[in-house]
Amino acid sequence: MASDAKTPVKCGTHGDRVPALVCRHHLESKDQAVGFVENSADPEDLQAWCDACEQVFLAEGGLTEAFRQFNDFRVVCDFCYAAMRDRHSHLEG
Ligand SMILES: [Zn+2]
Ligand SMILES: [Zn+2]
Repeated sequence: MASDAKTPVKCGTHGDRVPALVCRHHLESKDQAVGFVENSADPEDLQAWCDACEQVFLAEGGLTEAFRQFNDFRVVCDFCYAAMRDRHSHLEG
């Protein structure tokens, strides 16, 4: 077994991949773009949440328990993360 610091996530679509975090709204909203705000605090970790989560994040002033409960992070693979970025980013025109 490789002693990688990061445990790979087993994606049903993409197999063993690098884990990434999105909020539950990204998974729950299939048709509507809910926004895609990337957390750049730790460039090592892929992490993003939607516009609604960003509002709570700003109101709470950080990664508080209330924020975590609202956000309810879900682990996806890096490919799925990129796909969600495409789907949920608000594209101009
Ligand atoms: Zn969200
Ligand atoms: Zn995937």
